[in-house]
Amino acid sequence: MVELHLAKVDVEGSNPFARSIFFMDAIQIINGRLLCPVTGLDTRDALWVYEGCIQGGSPPPGGPVRTLDAGGRYIFPGFIDLHVHLREPGLEEAETVASGARAALAGGFTAVVAMPNTTPPLDTPERVAACRAAGRAAGGARVWPSACLTRGRAGQEAADLAGLAAAGAVAFTDDGATVPDTELLRALLVAARKLGRPVMDHAQDPRAEKNGVVHAGPWAARHGLPGIPREAEVDIIARDLDLAAATGGWMHIQHITTAGGVERLRAARAQGLSVSGEVTPHHLLLCDEDCDPDDANFKMNPPLREASDRSALQAGILEGVISCLATDHAPHLAATKARGLRAAPFGVVGLETAVGLTYSLLVRDRGLALGEWVARWTSGPAAVLGRPAPTLAPGQPADLTLFDPDAHWTVNPDEFISKARNTPFAGRLLQGRAQGLCLGELT
Ligand SMILES: [Zn+2]
Repeated sequence: MVELHLAKVDVEGSNPFARSIFFMDAIQIINGRLLCPVTGLDTRDALWVYEGCIQGGSPPPGGPVRTLDAGGRYIFPGFIDLHVHLREPGLEEAETVASGARAALAGGFTAVVAMPNTTPPLDTPERVAACRAAGRAAGGARVWPSACLTRGRAGQEAADLAGLAAAGAVAFTDDGATVPDTELLRALLVAARKLGRPVMDHAQDPRAEKNGVVHAGPWAARHGLPGIPREAEVDIIARDLDLAAATGGWMHIQHITTAGGVERLRAARAQGLSVSGEVTPHHLLLCDEDCDPDDANFKMNPPLREASDRSALQAGILEGVISCLATDHAPHLAATKARGLRAAPFGVVGLETAVGLTYSLLVRDRGLALGEWVARWTSGPAAVLGRPAPTLAPGQPADLTLFDPDAHWTVNPDEFISKARNTPFAGRLLQGRAQGLCLGELT
């Protein structure tokens, strides 16, 4: 019996040649606790994988068998992160598709949706295809590119949505900005619906956003910093949900930060509209009062709001009104983040801390059922993309998240696989650590 510890599995998983060996062999994963919120499976059986798919019951006949020891960890369907910035092309010093995909796997994810606000942006089929190809070659988590809604992300003219979808775009978004022109966004929502793709919106009104760098509240006033008001988000969420109601298109609200935004999403979902939302770990864990005015690792867009907003976000994710957790992993160079709150770029990394942060907060501290937490990282995001919920059922691709709920560890940015270190959680003690395992066929 060949036993591979998880670190070893990670090393081999990052090697495409080793992946092809995996694909040919039968694999038996022993000493794991299989938990699948969709099928209700919760058992300590071995999991068999053959030709990249989960097998039922007995092992496949003949051929070599490779055994992986899960070390007593949970085995979940693979976690999906709907919102990552991989910075290629344009800012490869901060992250590449390959480094981001490997960071994702190290953080417990088996698939990530790459945002298209690169330089140049992913607004042509060629660039979408290049992102997809780089993801396939990376040997990390799967990289599913999203593509721009408008040409050049300029918000003026529709991009070639059909061509972008054909090249592999799984969603459309001008993330980093909304599409301010309501009639254009309406037409785009209809076009995306016909292609079976969601529109993901960075719901923030650029007119109200102005030059804000943090949330417009008492903290910003005390520190003399320009703020981004809540209304910038809430008004655009209201518009977006109205458009979803009018068109039947799927509208996904990215990184919700306000109590008002949660309330509007709750009402829209209660009406049965095709709408969804995501929340990031940093908005769930932190508020403006936690900010260090001398540390731009607390600067992100949308900004950390007030404690009352944070409570509403937590309530939204606990009850499922917000059906998705997502990192908004936004790598930046240390040098640009050192420019201070006013001048530094927006964004924080998240791929390698998100699972521990959300498990610690939601399951350990707030009592969310383990399966519900898993669903916020699996079936919730899959539904946004129009994909079947990931499960551990026979025939499913063997993309798995291995999770140790008893791991206590301290966030050390120097240990990140990501090229970037810009996190506000350095030194934080977390419980729960995951690792992705992509044994399914490359697609
Ligand atoms: Zn955004």
